[in-house]
Amino acid sequence: PFDFQGKHVTVAGLGVSGVPAAKVLHGLGASVTVVNDGADERARAQAAELEALGVTVRLGDGDTLPEGSELIVTAPGWQPDKPLFAAAEQAGVPVWGDVELAWRLRGPDAAPWLAVTGTNGKTTTVQMLASILRAAGLRTAAVGNIGVSLLDAVLGEEQYDVLAVELSSYQLHWAPSLRAHSAAVLNLAPDHLDWHGSMEAYAADKGRIYEGNSVACVYNVDATDKPSTEDLVRAADVEEGCRAVGFTLGTPAPSQLGVVEGILVDRAFVEDRQKNAQELAEVADVNPPAPHNIANALAAAALARAYGVPARAVRDGLRAFTPDAHRIAHVADVDGVAYVDDSKATNTHAAQASLAAYEPIVWIAGGLAKGATFDELVAASAKRLRGVVLIGADRALIREALARHAPQVPVVDLERTDTGAMRAAVREARKLAQAGDTVLLAPACASMDMFANYNKRGDAFADAVRELGSADG
Ligand code: ADP
Repeated sequence: PFDFQGKHVTVAGLGVSGVPAAKVLHGLGASVTVVNDGADERARAQAAELEALGVTVRLGDGDTLPEGSELIVTAPGWQPDKPLFAAAEQAGVPVWGDVELAWRLRGPDAAPWLAVTGTNGKTTTVQMLASILRAAGLRTAAVGNIGVSLLDAVLGEEQYDVLAVELSSYQLHWAPSLRAHSAAVLNLAPDHLDWHGSMEAYAADKGRIYEGNSVACVYNVDATDKPSTEDLVRAADVEEGCRAVGFTLGTPAPSQLGVVEGILVDRAFVEDRQKNAQELAEVADVNPPAPHNIANALAAAALARAYGVPARAVRDGLRAFTPDAHRIAHVADVDGVAYVDDSKATNTHAAQASLAAYEPIVWIAGGLAKGATFDELVAASAKRLRGVVLIGADRALIREALARHAPQVPVVDLERTDTGAMRAAVREARKLAQAGDTVLLAPACASMDMFANYNKRGDAFADAVRELGSADG
C-alpha cells in the first residue's frame, strides 16, 4: 500500500469528493492542503470543518500549486486544461482523481470491480448488475458516480465480494492505474466535449476502463459509430486471457450475448457444454422492456456472467430490479393516454432512446441544449410524433429542427422558462394526445434553466399529470 505518512498532498476542490478525500488523507498522516476556486458560504463551512482537523484550506485560489506538493488529488469535474494541472505537470507532480485514490488505497484488496461507463445508461446498468449479483447471493453494492463513493466503499466497515462500479468519463480521465476485473462501455455519443476537448479525447477517456481488465471487456455490437466501443477494446492493453464480449439486440454470434425470439441468450459464457447458447431471461423480465434498456440488461448480464454468476441469477436479478425515478417512469394513465417521465434524458442520445420505445408520442422537450444539435434526433423520431410541446431556454433549436425534418407535426411553443411552464405543457400535451398515445417528457436538454435539477423537473411533470387525473375524478 501507498504510504502517505508525512507526504504533502494537495486536494483540488472541496465538495462531495474533496472533503472526504482530505479527511482520509489527513487520517493517513499526510500533510493536506485543499485549494478551492470559490469561497461561498458552503465552501467556508466545509473549510472550517477541515481546518478544525488540522487541514490547510485555501479558498478562492484553485490555480496555484502549493509549495512542496508531492501529489494532487482532484475532484473529478476539474477540467484538465486548468492552470493548476499545467503547473503540476511542470513540477512532475502526479494527479489522481477520487477513484484513483480509492484504487491505490485498497481497490484490489477490498473486492474485484465490475465497471461500467458510457454516455447513457450507466446508473441503470450498474443497478441491474448489483441486483443480479445479489440474486446470486453475493455481497455487493452499486458504487462510484452514483451516491456511494468508492472511498466509502473500499474503506468502510462493510465487506463485499464484488463491486458494481459506475465511472464517469471525468473519473476515468483521472484514474491512470485502475484495473477492473471486467468492464463495459455501453455507448458513445458526443457529450461533455468542452471538458475533454474533442470526441477522440472523450472516447480515449472512456476506453481507459478496459485497460488491464483480467476477464472480459464488454462492448456494444450495435453501436457502430466511430470510434466504436469495440475499437476501444481493441486499443486496450489487457491481461492475458481477457476476452472481448459483445452484446447486441440482434441474434448473437459466438462470444456475444443477444436476443433470440424474445429471450435474452448468452453465447459467450455457456454453462452447459452440450449447448451453444444459454437462456438468461425473457425480454419481459426487463423493466421497462424498451430497446435501450434491454441493451443495458445484456451489458449487466455480461459482466455478471464474466464474474461467474449462473443464468438463473440473471433472470431473478432483472425481475427484482426497479428503475430509479425519472428514468422512463410510468406516472399515470389519463383518458387512455400514458404519461411517462424520462426527465433524466438530459441529452439527445438519451432522448432518442426513449422516443424509440413509444408510438405515437406527444413529446415534451426543451431546456438547456449544452451546445447540442437536434437534427438527427428529430429526423429519427419524426414518424412517431403526434405532436410536440416545447419549453425552456433553447427550445428554438428544437423548433427549427422540427421545421426541417417533421414539418407536418403540430408544435406548441410555450415560450416559457418559468417553473410553472411544466403544468401548462402537460395541459397542452393532453389536448394533442389521443387514446393509446404516450405523452413523453424526454427533454433532450439539461434542466437548470427552469429547475434545480432533473429530479425537480420530473416531479413537476408528475405533479401536473396527477392534477389532470384528479380533475377528472
Ligand atoms: P447515466 O447514469 O449514464 O446518466 P441512466 O441510467 O441514469 O444513465 O439513464 C439516463 C437516461 O439515458 C435515461 O433516462 C434514458 O433516457 C437514457 N438511456 C438509458 N440507457 C440508455 C442506453 N443504453 N442508450 C441510450 N439511452 C439510454
